Amino acid sequence: MKIIQRPPFLGGFCIEKDYFVIIFCLSATRYNYKMRYLIFLIFIVSFFSYYIFQPMSRAEIIFFDVGQGDSFALKTTTGKIIVVDGGPNWDSLNGLGHWLGFGVNHINMIILSHDHEDHLTALPEILERYQVDKLIMPTGLSSQSSVALLKAAENNNVISEQLSTNRCYNLGQDCMLCLFPPDQDFINSKDKNDLSIALHFQCDGLSLVAAGDANKKREESLLRNNFNWQAQILKISHHGSASASSASFIKAVSPYLAFISVGANNSYNHPAKSTLTQLRMFALKIWRSDELGSLIIYANNKKIYLNKGP
Ligand SMILES: [Zn+2]
Repeated sequence: MKIIQRPPFLGGFCIEKDYFVIIFCLSATRYNYKMRYLIFLIFIVSFFSYYIFQPMSRAEIIFFDVGQGDSFALKTTTGKIIVVDGGPNWDSLNGLGHWLGFGVNHINMIILSHDHEDHLTALPEILERYQVDKLIMPTGLSSQSSVALLKAAENNNVISEQLSTNRCYNLGQDCMLCLFPPDQDFINSKDKNDLSIALHFQCDGLSLVAAGDANKKREESLLRNNFNWQAQILKISHHGSASASSASFIKAVSPYLAFISVGANNSYNHPAKSTLTQLRMFALKIWRSDELGSLIIYANNKKIYLNKGP
């Protein structure tokens, strides 16, 4: 699988839109009457062909730049949208609007990894503004914010579930999302980071592992599941804290890219030097949101493209 980092503004959507712009511009130039009529006809046929034979949605992952917190979203080849976490502010709400585009108001699933403010702040508002089918949460919710989230789900008739057993969703067109809540060893943990729902997403050659803010022991417990954790992208747990990113977990995932969602000059000194050293030992490409901002990753013709997000 070839992975390409694209410069900004060269996304496929721009090329498709530019095609129409070029034809429209040509039709408005000083050609004679017949030629202008012909170009206008081509424009009309192209326009309707595009909407009739619209290409399938492509698999995408977007990591929003939310500062010191987590929020990202997944899109499948059949256009299903899954939002994971809502960051420490409303930045993910803005990023989501830009990414989904005008007129898209349907989200298939929202997943809260765990009950901490830096992962859930925008979620109640997303539930208010979008038509959401389902909300998946971990067990052991107790914060005021999680109460607000449950209330927003109830007010908007969203089915909510506190996940207690591993589950895989077939998202169509060979796309699969598997969720892993804490097992018996962690179910009574006082540390909510260890109650994080971990996930493995694979779709059209694109794959991701994310485990919320899980600590090293929880990461290692995930490996006891009879599951192939290999993925191209690993969202680094707990914003690069020294308490996460165990060598055995990174080795099992063996990603190409490590994404660290972290705020600039944060008071926790995330990401830890030891974590960065560890990631470099595995020769991973590192994308830090505090340095590079948001990131869109998509697959096309068995190649993976990285673009700076909105
Ligand atoms: Zn966090």
